[in-house]
Amino acid sequence: MQSASEHVASYYAATRNIDVAYPALAGEERCDVAIVGGGFTGVSAALFLAERGYAVILLEANRIGWGATGRNGGQMIDGFVEEGKIGKKLGPEAEQVAYEMGLECRDIVVDIIGKYGIDCDLSFGYLDLAMNRGDMRNFEESWESKQRAGYPHEVRLLDEHEVRDYIGSEAYIGGLVNAGNGHLHPLNLCLGEAVAAASLGAKIFEQSPVTRIRHGAKPSVETAAGVVHANKVLLAGNAYLGRTEPRLAGAVIPAGSYVIATEPLSEALAAELLPHNNACCDQRVALDYFRLSADRRMLFGGMCNYSGRVPKSIKASLQPNMVSVFPQLADAGIDYEWGGNIGITMNRIPQLGRIDGNTYYAQGYSGHGVAPTHLAGKILADVVAGDSEQFDVFAKVRHFRLPGGKWFANPALALGMLYYRVRDALGISIR
Ligand SMILES: Cc1cc2nc3c(=O)[nH]c(=O)nc-3n(C[C@H](O)[C@H](O)[C@H](O)COP(=O)(O)OP(=O)(O)OC[C@H]3O[C@@H](n4cnc5c(N)ncnc54)[C@H](O)[C@@H]3O)c2cc1C
Repeated sequence: MQSASEHVASYYAATRNIDVAYPALAGEERCDVAIVGGGFTGVSAALFLAERGYAVILLEANRIGWGATGRNGGQMIDGFVEEGKIGKKLGPEAEQVAYEMGLECRDIVVDIIGKYGIDCDLSFGYLDLAMNRGDMRNFEESWESKQRAGYPHEVRLLDEHEVRDYIGSEAYIGGLVNAGNGHLHPLNLCLGEAVAAASLGAKIFEQSPVTRIRHGAKPSVETAAGVVHANKVLLAGNAYLGRTEPRLAGAVIPAGSYVIATEPLSEALAAELLPHNNACCDQRVALDYFRLSADRRMLFGGMCNYSGRVPKSIKASLQPNMVSVFPQLADAGIDYEWGGNIGITMNRIPQLGRIDGNTYYAQGYSGHGVAPTHLAGKILADVVAGDSEQFDVFAKVRHFRLPGGKWFANPALALGMLYYRVRDALGISIR
């Protein structure tokens, strides 16, 4: 665990519309459910449990939304796990459950925003971009499989001419546009969810790193200044959990991803770059992802390198990528740069499980967590309430854990990324 700190200096932190500071835990507390980690996973679990009348205490080491939740690209994409992954391991019935979970996770986010009136710049429209024929073939397959499955949102394939109506860039040869997905201000969403949970009775503590978990029928979690006794404990620290729970150390690989935000663009330039205000990404492993903010900044994200090391300058790493997609932004000032850790799993399947006694966890959304975290929060709340149908599907999946925890993880990540660098460079599609 790092020592407690404030939000990183991001565009999101600078434009947050809620500034509630929750107290630090001091002394002894009792509750039905103690939650460790105040990102989307932990806060949504707290909200779903509070809605059902459980007494909940959430402990966040830093500030609500401090981790990946308050730093991400804000791209809200359905799908809980890549198509076919669960089917391969557990058969067609499990694949169908996973498909439905993929639709549900996006709907949960949209429903929460509507139900609690959370002001988080939700905007619909998502554009997957193709750089080579392999990407286009994958889009065609994805489009066909969505038609067969009766996918509920409008999805259109765009050829090399049509894609120009959606993006002012020469970098792409086609696209797949999805009207059901979109983008939002993730920190404002999480802060709004925390306020909703607190209004329903959930107790939230910030600046309260959990240092020890005692498992068992009546588990408890300890910070330097207090202890919470609970009937159930939910671990939602994801890539930031560190060695808080030794049995999860090394289960997810913390991989850095980074974002720059330009100064606000003119209406005319914003409309030239992304006329339909879609969130976009390409198909590489070290992908570019980008979108406009509500105040018309280009938020451009990606990985700075394949080594897993923190770059010396995020701006110097990402600005050339942005300008190669949008030469029109060559002179745009960069107002913000930041990064965060994504929790990657070796098989790219989110990890849900039970550690011991009454301690459960959800983590490892592998770079695609805005929507899936919310379903994970609901699934954890379901387990507490005695319904483990969706949980059981994912708890059955065997995961490879890196021995030695985080010290082993980054060299392994660097090696893995070297492999993908070669594939990306050769234009080999990985889907
Ligand atoms: C730069 C970046 C861009 C991304 N872009 C996208 C995107 O566009 N779309 C998308 O779908 N996903 C994206 N993701 C992934 C997405 O942000 C994550 O999957 C998601 O936010 C994970 O949420 P979480 O609650 O599980 O973890 P986090 O948000 O990381 O929260 C974990 C929290 O647990 C706390 N914690 C850890 N240990 C302890 C402890 N011992 N005691 C108390 N608290 C503790 C941490 O302080 C932290 O606040 C991106 C991630 C990054 C980093």
